[in-house]
Order: sequence, then C-alpha cells, then structure tokens
Amino acid sequence: MTAEAGEFQIIERFFTHEAFGAWKSQGVGDDCAIIDAGAARLAVTCDMMALGTHFLPDADPENVGYKALAVNLSDLAAAGATPRAFFLSIGLPRRDDGWLADFSRGLMGLAAETGCALLGGDTTRTPEVNGRRAPAVISITAMGDLPAGLGLTRAGARPGDDVWVSGTVGDAYAALKCRWGHWSVMPDALPDLCRRMDRPTPRLALGRALLGVASAAADVSDGLLADLGHILERSHVGAEIDWERIPVSTALKSLTMPRQHEAALAGGDDYELVFTAPAAAADRVLEAGLAAATPVTRIGRITERKGSSVVVRAHGLPIAVERTGFDHFSGAPDHA
Ligand code: ADP
Ligand code: MG
Repeated sequence: MTAEAGEFQIIERFFTHEAFGAWKSQGVGDDCAIIDAGAARLAVTCDMMALGTHFLPDADPENVGYKALAVNLSDLAAAGATPRAFFLSIGLPRRDDGWLADFSRGLMGLAAETGCALLGGDTTRTPEVNGRRAPAVISITAMGDLPAGLGLTRAGARPGDDVWVSGTVGDAYAALKCRWGHWSVMPDALPDLCRRMDRPTPRLALGRALLGVASAAADVSDGLLADLGHILERSHVGAEIDWERIPVSTALKSLTMPRQHEAALAGGDDYELVFTAPAAAADRVLEAGLAAATPVTRIGRITERKGSSVVVRAHGLPIAVERTGFDHFSGAPDHA
C-alpha cells in the first residue's frame, strides 16, 4: 500500500502530529501504539467495524461479536503484547435482545479465552438518515502489556532480513468471494474457508514468542502485500517474495492461478502475522512457531528500498499484481 492511498493519506494528513505529553510512544502508524506509561509498557489499539462494510448485513451476531474483538487482539499479537483489557463502544439502529445475546456470547467467549476483560465503553443509537437508521457500528479499544523494553513494530526491518508469514493467507477473501457467489470451491471445503473469515484466530502466542526475535511485524488485515508494504514504508526498505513459498490452503490451491494471486497477495482479513527477522535468527523463528503451535513460513527477503511496492516472483520472474489490498477511501475525496 502506498502512502498516497486514501485511508492512509487521511491519517497522515489530518491525524499525525508531533509527539507531546508525558507518555512516550512511537506515534500513529503501527498496529498498536506502544506506550511507556510510568513503569508499565502498554500496547493499545482501536478498530471500528460497521455492519454492511466489515460484516455482511445478515452476518451471524455471534461471529460479529467474536470477530470484533479478534481483529483488535490481532493488532496486540502483531505487537507481541498480552491482552489484558478492552473497551466497547456500540451504536445500534434498534434494540434486539436476541441479536445482542448472540453478539455478547461471541465477544465474551473470546474475551474469557484470552484473559481480556471488558472494562468500559459506550452505547448509543445510530442516527436516522432519510428515515432509515444507519447500520450498527462497533468500536473496540484493546490494551495489552509488554515486558519492559520489548515490543514489535513495523519499523525494524533491515536489508538482508527474511520475510515470514504465519499460517496460510487468502482463505478469508476466497470465502467472501464464494459467499458472494463469484467464486466456487468444492462444497466440503467451504465450511473451513468460511471459518477463516468468520472466526479468525489472533496469533497471540506467536506474537509473544517473536519478542526479541522478529525485527518488524504487522498483522494481515488489509492483504499480504499491503501489510508487508506498511512494514516496508515504516522501515524504509524494499522486499522480494517468492510466490511458490507463500503458504496457501488446499482449498485455495483449487482456484485458478489469477484467483490464488488475488486472494493470497491482496485479499485481507486473514489476521496472520507477516514479520521479518535477521537471517541468523531463522532457527529462533522456527522455535517460536513450534512453541506457539503456529506454522511459520519464510517467503522472501528484505532489500534496499526501491519504490514502495513488494516485488513478487513466480518461477524467478516478477509477476504483476492488479491490486495490493483493501483501502476504505481509495479514490478522490468526496469533498476536496
Ligand atoms: P490496523 O489495520 O492495524 O488496525 P489501520 O490501518 O486501521 O491499522 O491504521 C493505521 C494506523 O493509523 C494505526 O497506527 C492507527 O492507530 C492509526 N489511525 C487510524 N485512524 C486514525 C485516526 N482517526 N486518528 C489517529 N490515528 C489513526
Ligand atoms: Mg493491524
């Protein structure tokens, strides 16, 4: 993703500022703000989701509750933090206790599983626009802690480092395409694919195990190339990755090659970790993967910076990728 892309241009232009205040942090632009708050080192992240944008309007509310927290925990995982607490702000078009009971079950189930306590929030009704209520919006702020002096950011990748990714990429996007009826896979492969989209696993154990090992990390929310691109921008480096090494599921392999490229390279919502580590630390990365019971795959290397994009090679030759990832505001401003 380039700095010119809409969503990131808005953040850079209107919400990035010089640091001030007593709490020191690396500032806007990472998966989490890592904050030295007195003796504690905190990682804090905030993600907003809207029904109809981030979820299909008729999405199962239990999955909505689960995923709303999971995507925030994934940002904590990318920092290597241990989740401790979260705050929930929710805007609802109407009161529907059945929906709320299911939403709460999904949300609080994951909260209990990960030791992340709900400590506050806000509840409002969404506004009425032209006689219709705006859809539900959910904003979660999640906080975790880090050992003193440690924490993964997007900024530490160096030329010569290896590029790694956890699990497999592309499934969540392929699931969405199948749900829309645009793509199809064997019917028995669909439930697993959909689970990747509806119930992503935040890679918390892996993030923690990579503290002091990885040089930079991000979670794959916008797409592999886009999120690796964020690391490259913050680290002022380039990267080359090999298509053949990118881990994809059996279901994804059943799709045509252009679709595999689109899903694995540019599809978002996987919530895997993409990270870099010095070549000499490769064994420690593999050990971290084993300790976290999470597969990790080396997919390429960090180079000197040449442009902002990642070079992807298949059979040694660069391939062109049409889109790199998801951006809420790509295109021109609605009001200049
Ligand atoms: P992620 O996908 O990891 O949640 P985003 O792509 O949403 O991260 O955001 C990129 C960076 O910009 C993050 O550091 C985030 O905290 C910051 N950011 C996004 N929106 C705002 C905003 N309105 N004000 C300040 N910082 C923002
Ligand atoms: Mg993130």
